[in-house]
Amino acid sequence: MSDIFLWKPVIEILILWFMIYHIMLFFEGTRAIQVLRGIVILLVAFFVFQNLGFTILDWLLTKLFAISVIAILIIFHPEIRHGLARLGQRHLFGTVLREEELDFILSQIVKASEILCKNKIGALIAVEREDSLAPYMESGVVMDAKVSIELIQTIFAPSSILHDGGLIIQHGRMMAGGCLFPLTASSDLSRVFGTRHRAALGLSEETDALVIVVSEERQDMSFAYQGRLHQDVTPEEMLMKIKDIIKVKKEK
Ligand code: ATP
Ligand code: MG
Repeated sequence: MSDIFLWKPVIEILILWFMIYHIMLFFEGTRAIQVLRGIVILLVAFFVFQNLGFTILDWLLTKLFAISVIAILIIFHPEIRHGLARLGQRHLFGTVLREEELDFILSQIVKASEILCKNKIGALIAVEREDSLAPYMESGVVMDAKVSIELIQTIFAPSSILHDGGLIIQHGRMMAGGCLFPLTASSDLSRVFGTRHRAALGLSEETDALVIVVSEERQDMSFAYQGRLHQDVTPEEMLMKIKDIIKVKKEK
């Protein structure tokens, strides 16, 4: 019996930690995260004041919380809505998109890359898998558009404002353009590769995304996955390999 009492606070702390961690993850990459950090600090202060018996501070914080719940709901309703939608779609590539839709999207991406390549136009396209690419979207411009060859070409056209940086495909849609990806620090990559390829490899090291890169210098297509750059692949090879990668996840 006494054992249970001993374990209760431990279990409670673990549950609290789990909840806070997941709430933080939920809001990661949005402006709400700073506010949430503040709330966590206030919560800790609240428990400390209560346990130490500081009645006035305790009373003050209780009132503050009651007001702040309503304030947060009003101020952050776009983030909350977006977050809830994301929760439901977390594994969209695996569950919601039908195989034909997935094939269509991937073939559009590869066809667009092939055309860009022939026209000597560089491109960088990241396809999200399990790990959220939302943090990288913050550096670009959110679009949320249907994947199409024409739109991908338009984005990477040298006159386009979004041609610099990467395009993010999330949940089967073109979610953001002009995004900055992390550059790899790997010394294995040949000097002939510049920052575009370094960004593709860097993102594939930090996330499980599949990153397609079109070189305007050499006019070839490559893709980075799990920290490896598969260089100079033909469009047919590319389509076959990326379909395989995305589908392996689907079957898991
Ligand atoms: P290419 O073979 O096409 O010349 P490269 O690997 O040699 O590519 P650069 O010539 O340095 O690379 O390409 C520069 C372009 O790469 C930039 O104009 C920009 O669009 C893109 N780029 C550079 N750094 C990043 C980054 N951190 N995230 C996303 N895109 C980037
Ligand atoms: Mg270059």
